[in-house]
Amino acid sequence: MASNKYDRQRVLVTGGAGFLGSHLCERLLDQGYNVICLDNYFTGQRQNIFHLMDNRQFEIVRHDLVNPIFLEVDQIYNLACPASPVHYQYNPVKTVKTSVMGAINILGLAKRVKAKVLQASTSEVYGDPAVHPQKEEYWGNVNPIGKRACYDEGKRCAETLFFDYHRQNNVNIKVVRIFNTYGPRMHPNDGRVVSNFIVQALNNEAITIFGDGSQTRSFCFADDLIDGMIRMMDSPEGFVGPVNLGNPAEFQIRELAEQIIRLTNSKSRIEFLPLPKDDPLRRRPDISLAKEKLGWEPTTPLEKGLGKTIKYFKELVSGK
Ligand code: NAD
Ligand code: UDP
Repeated sequence: MASNKYDRQRVLVTGGAGFLGSHLCERLLDQGYNVICLDNYFTGQRQNIFHLMDNRQFEIVRHDLVNPIFLEVDQIYNLACPASPVHYQYNPVKTVKTSVMGAINILGLAKRVKAKVLQASTSEVYGDPAVHPQKEEYWGNVNPIGKRACYDEGKRCAETLFFDYHRQNNVNIKVVRIFNTYGPRMHPNDGRVVSNFIVQALNNEAITIFGDGSQTRSFCFADDLIDGMIRMMDSPEGFVGPVNLGNPAEFQIRELAEQIIRLTNSKSRIEFLPLPKDDPLRRRPDISLAKEKLGWEPTTPLEKGLGKTIKYFKELVSGK
């Protein structure tokens, strides 16, 4: 990357005020890029990026990505989309629009300015997987008319658009499939399992396990994930993905609850609630491709990552 301040690379991060987007903006600024953060603040928060606002290389654009955007940039990370089931099911039509029209708008921009563009896709493209662990070649098992479809099919269609713009228009694409990622700056009311359990445990409220808690997920700490995303963006042009990014250590949801109760010294009891329809029963990434092509694998064990996340929520809950 150029070191002269006049030819710094300009990077657009859509969804930059969200959980992962804010960590990404911070890391890119540290690496010397000029960063434009675009967000409509549906699930993102200005306080996630307050600490970056004094940085002269940082710029904020309030914009809804279902509308076209005209900017001059060299790289684009496309993260704009609610990620928690509670939020993406709140307005499912809008979720589809954000994924699909957002992808079209971002790819049109990338085509016009010849920018490299990375799509934050998801393990949800595998649906409730019939193959375990999930490799990139697996085409998935998604219910196209269920409540999760607005997100799963929206993200699948976005991948289709990325590959069609690549084949048809030579757009320089990169696609990563992110598995459950957690860490500081998750929204306390986000509804995802790690933030829910930590906030419940810190308040000594019942921990809400959906189903019997035997379903599994593999949890990746945000710092590791950001490292993988940037490595993918910087990988040689011939490698477009999709590539799985996630931590292959697999846990039952009940084990996660017990671990969080222990780490927070909480008095919370466990409450079992009905399992939502189409909730995937097992999920674990096969990350051999990321290891081979990006030299990437996560280094933060769950207990250590949870410790940092609990510290963040403790400060938030106590109003520090
Ligand atoms: P998040 O909800 O914290 O961030 C999403 C951001 O996108 C928010 O700031 C939100 O305001 C913004 N946004 C939503 N709709 C928009 C629109 N129409 N126009 C502009 N901005 C919009 O979620 P996150 O966990 O940071 O996820 C970021 C991306 O990574 C998402 O695309 C998500 O699908 C993907 N992803 C995340 C995970 C995970 O476990 N965190 C897993 C798989 C994929
Ligand atoms: N879950 C739970 N209690 C909660 C929130 C989630 O038991 O309060 C379960 C959910 O049913 C799923 C898993 O935890 O099996 C992960 O849910 P999350 O919403 O974090 O992400 P998903 O991987 O389902 O998109």
